Amino acid sequence: MNGPVSIEVLRQHLIDPEICIRCNTCEETCPVDAITHDDSNYVVKAEICNGCMACVPPCPTGAIDNWRTVLRADAYPVDEQFKWDVLPEQTTMAVAAVDETSNVDASDEASGIEVDTVRGSVVPPWSAAKPYVNLYTHKTPTTATVVGNYRLTDASTDSDIHHIVLDFGTMPFPVLEGQSIGILPPGASGDGRAHHARQYSIASPRDGERAGYNNVSLTVKRVSQQHGDTIDGVCSNYLCDLKKGDVVSVIGPFGGTFLMPNHPDSHLLMICTGTGSAPMRAMTEYRRRRRLKGATGKLMLFFGARTKEELPYFGPLTNLPKDFIDTNLAFSRTPGQPKRYVQDAMRERAVDVAQMLKDDNTHIYVCGLKGMEDGVLQALKEIGERHQLDWEVLWARLKREGRLHLETY
Ligand SMILES: Cc1cc2nc3c(=O)[nH]c(=O)nc-3n(C[C@H](O)[C@H](O)[C@H](O)COP(=O)(O)OP(=O)(O)OC[C@H]3O[C@@H](n4cnc5c(N)ncnc54)[C@H](O)[C@@H]3O)c2cc1C
Repeated sequence: MNGPVSIEVLRQHLIDPEICIRCNTCEETCPVDAITHDDSNYVVKAEICNGCMACVPPCPTGAIDNWRTVLRADAYPVDEQFKWDVLPEQTTMAVAAVDETSNVDASDEASGIEVDTVRGSVVPPWSAAKPYVNLYTHKTPTTATVVGNYRLTDASTDSDIHHIVLDFGTMPFPVLEGQSIGILPPGASGDGRAHHARQYSIASPRDGERAGYNNVSLTVKRVSQQHGDTIDGVCSNYLCDLKKGDVVSVIGPFGGTFLMPNHPDSHLLMICTGTGSAPMRAMTEYRRRRRLKGATGKLMLFFGARTKEELPYFGPLTNLPKDFIDTNLAFSRTPGQPKRYVQDAMRERAVDVAQMLKDDNTHIYVCGLKGMEDGVLQALKEIGERHQLDWEVLWARLKREGRLHLETY
């Protein structure tokens, strides 16, 4: 007599290597450490992934949202996933096994979205414009011409940050402030594979670096050192060395949540370090251009760098009218001065920050070095609690309402 069929079927979570821009968001978000990477690919460990979906909404490209039904015994191991250039097709054998066994429901593996493991919003502000994403991919990139490349930081410092303007000519490349693009650097890595794309935030507003032109600007820091070792970052050096007239391969745009609100009385609380200023510049410039058309919301900026000389956009920033933007700078390595970080500047302005936290029209944006997130969230918590706000309740609300956006790298 035949017993009940007991074939274990798995809806295996996979990442599409053709779309993934290796931004590390999924690995950081995964609450059970099921995601890992090597120099080539981001991959999911089938034996650990519980299909909680926490990594899916924050992924800027959607590469994370791929699933194959497999027999559990045949699940793709990570060593195999590391070698993929494309995802494997869905094989029919496991699907047939699901059809034949009444007691297996492969979709049970991925039920419910646990967004509570994520520290920022996974939805955009209610009034954000609808973004275009993934118009151009690794397989179908577009090109842009360099129309400007200027060093932003003082020549006396090692911090070499460039403002690079890329023009798309007649190719459509619609963007919103807060989105990013991917640059495909020429050449190949040690294993002979083409370099993967690097992601850069757009520093210009939706209507162009120059209003009415089909162009975007980027704020790129040359990577030449990491943890004390001298290294030449592939893409940042390529970009910083570009000349006017050079042509670059571009993919994107990416990002559907780190977007600015469009209602005119919305307030922006912007906190950034270094090149994290790119999206803040885009949003500020968009508001500056719209100001004459009736935008009344407040802009408050906390901007940190090691020294004044290392702060990109220092000159233009300090020239903006005080009644348009409330700018607070923090320098952590000014000779002869105590170290001051963005969270210190926020605490000094606690009364005004609390006022903004209490206002339902306030949207918070944090962008820059990975290490800043903890300090900024801690400062927001302390400021809130000192001003009779229950931070845990407010934090959950800010996330739910698309009003707390974190992008650190
Ligand atoms: C959402 C997002 C937005 C971003 N926005 C911006 C932005 O607006 N501006 C910006 O400048 N950057 C931004 N970045 C970072 C950017 O994508 C790149 O990671 C950065 O420019 C470095 O790329 P690279 O190719 O120059 O360096 P890579 O060649 O990729 O090197 C990066 C790292 O690899 C390691 N490495 C590489 N070679 C060596 C070696 N020989 N020895 C030891 N270690 C090595 C080091 O850890 C090094 O830091 C963003 C990243 C993300 C995820």
